[in-house]
Amino acid sequence: MKNFPVVFGIDLDAESSWLGKSPENAGKPVLLSHGTYEIREGLKSLLDVLDRHDVRSTFFIPGLIAHRHPEAVTEIFRRGHEVASHGYNHLSPPLLDAGQERKELASGIETLEKITGRRPVTWQAPSWEITARTIDYLIDEGVSVSSNFHDSTRPYRHVRNGVPLPLVELPVEWHLADAPFFLYGGMPGRQIWPPLTVEEMWKEDFRGLYEREGSYFRLALHVQLIAHPGRLRMLERFIQFIKEHPNAYFTRCDELAATIA
Ligand SMILES: [Zn+2]
Repeated sequence: MKNFPVVFGIDLDAESSWLGKSPENAGKPVLLSHGTYEIREGLKSLLDVLDRHDVRSTFFIPGLIAHRHPEAVTEIFRRGHEVASHGYNHLSPPLLDAGQERKELASGIETLEKITGRRPVTWQAPSWEITARTIDYLIDEGVSVSSNFHDSTRPYRHVRNGVPLPLVELPVEWHLADAPFFLYGGMPGRQIWPPLTVEEMWKEDFRGLYEREGSYFRLALHVQLIAHPGRLRMLERFIQFIKEHPNAYFTRCDELAATIA
């Protein structure tokens, strides 16, 4: 029986990741156009690659982007992927006060629910940072899957004072993400890595995790970073590599979390 889950968590951040970094970015059309590329070309190419290999993934979509581009959310949902929440304005929770944090979470979820008719159960924080309040807020909103912590190579259930909470964690790692290698930062010293180097590194991590009992493989991707022609070729080879492992199977965050006791 296949026992090694593989999850691709894909951010459809479009312009929100730039707007969330600084309000000044609203006046920079060229910077924002990195995000526009996602909607105009990137998303369809990426969805086609995933379809070709029968891979169903989890897409994290900020409410602002869902509101601006509902047809993108509908298409992701129609193709069988999980539509998951990622805040509203792509703001990191530690930058917000309690009221703002709750509002960002609730409005992000509601916007997606209105479009798909289904309430999202999975949530990922912009920048993978949360506050001491966040877990309670997630549970209040009916979120049952978090994918933010870096403390394990295995999915687990959150526990407080010895009591299991209705919240499963699907841990992440910065080196199992495209952003550290492919993000254009416009900053001195920022280096974009060659896809072949990144591919080799992810393969080596995959081999190591595949041998570790109870472990899983979770890759964090961004449409605006991965959905360029050369990088998509790399992703396609990487999917083929994963399929060569007889115990590996692709799944979505919500489906994997449902199997965690
Ligand atoms: Zn994001």
